This record gives sequence, C-alpha cells and structure tokens, in this order.
Amino acid sequence: MKKSLLVILVLIPVQSFGWSRHNRITEIAIDSMIEVRAQKVLVTDFSDVEKNAAYILQDLKALRDAKYQDLDAFDPKLTFNENIKINKNYKFQANATSPNTNFQDMIGMQVSAADVLIKYADEPDWTMDQLLFGADQYPQIYKAQYAYMGGADSNDPIPTQAFRHMFWESWSLPHLFETFKIPVSRSPAGQAPDRAGLFLALSRRAKELHLDYWSLRFLANSLHYLEDVSQPYHSTQTATKYFMFMGAFDPKSEGPFVKLATYSSVVQHVLTYYHFAFEDYMALLIEKYYADPNSTPEAKVLVTALGVQSKDDSQIVDPNQDLYARVLAMSSMAVAEASKAGRASLKFFPQIPEKFISFDGTAANKFMDANFWSAVFKTGEGDSEGKKEYYEVVKDMYIPLGAEIRTVVKSSLNYELL
Ligand SMILES: [Zn+2]
Repeated sequence: MKKSLLVILVLIPVQSFGWSRHNRITEIAIDSMIEVRAQKVLVTDFSDVEKNAAYILQDLKALRDAKYQDLDAFDPKLTFNENIKINKNYKFQANATSPNTNFQDMIGMQVSAADVLIKYADEPDWTMDQLLFGADQYPQIYKAQYAYMGGADSNDPIPTQAFRHMFWESWSLPHLFETFKIPVSRSPAGQAPDRAGLFLALSRRAKELHLDYWSLRFLANSLHYLEDVSQPYHSTQTATKYFMFMGAFDPKSEGPFVKLATYSSVVQHVLTYYHFAFEDYMALLIEKYYADPNSTPEAKVLVTALGVQSKDDSQIVDPNQDLYARVLAMSSMAVAEASKAGRASLKFFPQIPEKFISFDGTAANKFMDANFWSAVFKTGEGDSEGKKEYYEVVKDMYIPLGAEIRTVVKSSLNYELL
C-alpha cells in the first residue's frame, strides 16, 4: 500500500498560481493605507542595486545559517540573480510589462508607492522561479521531494516554479487524514517562507541605501509568496481526500481496479479542474466587482474581509515574529481550511461533464466557457450550501491575509505599527 501511494503521488503534477491576480489582492489589502498611496518614489535603474549588491545581499549568509534553502553567503563573483538563485536570464527592470496592469513606472518618473506594490506583487510569477534545474541554471538545488510538487522536467517551466511558491507542512496524522499529504516524509516541502523572508531582507537593505523604488519592488515580491500560501489548494496536495475516492469510485472514474497511471491521471484531472475553478472564479468575481460594484454585490463581503480590519490586525499576527514564521502561520491556516475548500468546490462548481480520464486541461478549458461562467455566477448570487461554504473559506483566509499584508507594509515603510 505504501509503495503504491508513493507512485500515485509522484505522478500527480501540481500546478498552482495562488490567487491568480496578486495585483488585486494587494490593491484591496492596502486600499485603506492612504499614506502608502500618498508616498511618491523616484523610479531608478536596477544598475543601482547591482552596484550595491555587496550591501544589499549582505544578509544571505545569516539567512543561510537560519536554514533558508538555496542560499549561500554573498559571492561578489556572481551576478545578483545567481546570488539569490533565480533564473539567470530574468531581468529586473523598471516599467516591466505586467499581464495584469498597464501602470507605467519609467525611469525618472515619480510614482506612488502603492502602485509599485500592486503591480509587482505579481512579479515572482514572471519566470524568475522557472526552469531552475536546467544544466545552465542550478541543477544542484534539485531535491527529490520536488517530484511531488510538480516534477523537475526542465522543459516544462511551471513545475519548477511550484516548489518556490508553495509550502507543505511536515506530515502529521490529522493532516494525512484530512487532506491526504505525502505519507512518506516528515519534512516540510516548498520554499514560500524562505523566499518571502529573503525578499523582505533585500527590501530593508535597499531602503537603508535610499533605493526606495527597489525597496518597494522587493517588498512587493515578498508579499507574493505570503499571498500564495494563503490559498488552501496551495498548502496541501489534494485539498480533500474525497478527490482520491472520486478517482476510484465515481461512475465517471475508470473504477477501482485500473492501472496506477490511469488512476493518477483521473485524480489529477479532477483536482486540476476544481483547483483552477476555485481561484479563477474568485479572480473573475473581484475583477467584475471592481468594474462595477453593483454587478456583483455578493463580492462585497470578500473585498471587505481582505481590505478592512474586521478586528485589530495585531490580534491576528504578531509583528514581532519574523516574516518566515508568519508565512508558516498563514500556511497552517490554509491547511486548516483546505478540506472545507475542497468540499465547497465540489458543491459549488458544475460537475465534470464527461469521463474524468478524458477531461484533461484542454477539455477543462473548453468546458469553462461563457455559459459555464454565467452558471457559476448565478450560483454565486444564490444562497446554496456550496456558496456559503466557499465564501466562508475565502473570507476566513482573506481576513488574516489582509491584516498580514498591511502589517508587513507598515513595518517596512516605518509607519506606526498597529
Ligand atoms: Zn506564485
């Protein structure tokens, strides 16, 4: 049994992108911080950071000693990217192209600190963490456990991003029964806390040199990883064990006695559909709300949860803890919500229309057309059990996430702590 579980889990690739739209998550979370919007910074070239690399990267050794993965002490012979082990071809540059906003930040412009945070909260998804195991990159950083997190095929950029953007807690008995995590390893997997802490350290050093624009860029990058782990589908392998049962016993499955590889594809198809439906609906809902709040009044409760303190932020997070520890805490909260997220998804979204085995990513994309979304939005306007549970999960995560984002931003910009 143990061996076959292992094989199944190796074969289930995990692809995940958190909440899809980090710019909106960040925008809503800091909306009440008028001082961040009012603060202007001068956009400067990345060469200012490179010239000061020895200073800005001085904490690498301390972070490595604190067991941050993939870091070594600063090496002046290496480039900036090589020192922090991101894709060597990635280019930090002013006014980068974002798929989600057309905010302009050209060198020499004065821009709002809030706008920089909002735009660049998406940046870690723009290839810096992709294709990392290629021979020309960092093949030495590969670990066997990444096979569980989407694999190591260096021709497929997304899987090698997963381990940087996720975090799975170390194994525990309740965790196994609730969410079906790898039962073979007691060590945690993933680097989201490490990357959040690393970028925050870079942000603070850049600020000490008055490189305010780049300090904000690194702060935005740091927020990205914090936001990623708050998505329940990100903090567990299969949100609810029911997905595993469906793969074997649902009438649309291939039955319980199929080959492992077939079973694995079946579970993967089910999981991928619900995972993307879960985060795509939320992203679409919030976009629609932003375009016209009256079009989706049901979104208000979620936007409020993320954006307005429903209780004192300091009751949720301890600003004295370092960010690494707080990303872990956020991930734990997401794990606690994961099986509810899974169950709510099953109730809320339309059922898979065909045999699971043929419902691959392409079929799922085709299925999720305009008719699909208008049916989903109808369910979202209603009062069904699935809607209630889904919204509760998101609200339960958005309240601490919003508080956490504001706390990090405030302490970084030296506004009064809560
Ligand atoms: Zn991400």
